[in-house]
Amino acid sequence: MTFKERVFSGVQPTGNLHLGNYLGAIVKFVALQEQYDCIYCVVDMHAITVWQDPAELKRSIREVTAAFIACGIDPKRHIVFNQSQVAEHAELAWIFNCVARLGWLNRMTQFKEKAGKDRENASVGLYAYPALMAADILVYRATHVPVGEDQKQHLELARDIAQKFNNDFAASIAALGLGPVFFPLPEPLIQGPATRVMSLRDGTKKMSKSDPSDYSRINLTDDADTIAQKIRKAKTDPDPLPHDEKGLESRPEADNLVGIFAALAGKTKAEVLGEFGGAQFSSFKAALVELAAGKLGPVGSEMKRLVQDPAYIDAVLGDGAARAQAIAADTMRYVKDVVGFVRR
Ligand code: ATP
Ligand code: MG
Repeated sequence: MTFKERVFSGVQPTGNLHLGNYLGAIVKFVALQEQYDCIYCVVDMHAITVWQDPAELKRSIREVTAAFIACGIDPKRHIVFNQSQVAEHAELAWIFNCVARLGWLNRMTQFKEKAGKDRENASVGLYAYPALMAADILVYRATHVPVGEDQKQHLELARDIAQKFNNDFAASIAALGLGPVFFPLPEPLIQGPATRVMSLRDGTKKMSKSDPSDYSRINLTDDADTIAQKIRKAKTDPDPLPHDEKGLESRPEADNLVGIFAALAGKTKAEVLGEFGGAQFSSFKAALVELAAGKLGPVGSEMKRLVQDPAYIDAVLGDGAARAQAIAADTMRYVKDVVGFVRR
């Protein structure tokens, strides 16, 4: 069976958006608009799997929306909304909680990392997060999901859930004439030189909103001076840049900066090394500062302008939510019939 091609992805309103979110996700979101119908979601229900201050959460939902628009996502041609406005996400997530197996969730590395040592004290939501993520995607029967490398495992779980639902309910799906399969197996889109941007302080740790050191990341709202300072202070090793990609092996910090440069410039790492191979970090970093400030400066100032108009942002989210809900409600009517719920 062929499904209508559709892109879905989400970003959590959990703090400062950074270069990893931009290169690993948002830049891809923008590019896919030409080829697909896209749904981009501010996943506020995922955010509260760890404690969020309510006033800060609201601010952050609007800021992520502003970032989407500032980066070039068109909320008129595509759909931009926040997750909690479409209750069908939670509804399908419950059904998926009953499809997913404990053994599958026990393997999720994000839960292990985020729960840390005090696992008994983690929220049930943090554990069940991947089932909600599967529902986010599948409530729109989306076929393609652009994400960073860190979400690969969750996407595989979403495929497992889709497949098990299709199998468990195969007879019911066929009897209702909805078959042979009800849910597509969503494909991850994880490509390019910056699918996993690393911390500027430690090339073995992912750049993340939750890192306590602000010097570990470049925020989308950082001004040119801050970007310059952070890149100049970024950890490196003493050797000059290598001439080919093989020379980046076992040099995680060098690999990271070259990957960032390549992604920002729209080049491959090999092309960047063709230009900078043999150069010292000081001159490479100076070029990177110029490139990063040039790309991020306009995004940051447009974000700051947009968040000053919360009424506009909220209108975008409301309009997107209404259009998203029309699709999601349709899916849920079928799902309820498939599962055997009585409905109005
Ligand atoms: P948190 O620490 O709250 O989980 P986060 O920085 O991981 O925040 P998310 O909202 O969880 O951000 O992820 C949004 C998107 O950004 C996802 O597609 C994710 O894969 C991508 N992403 C996050 N961090 C990176 C990174 N360091 N490199 C590339 N992509 C990333
Ligand atoms: Mg994350």
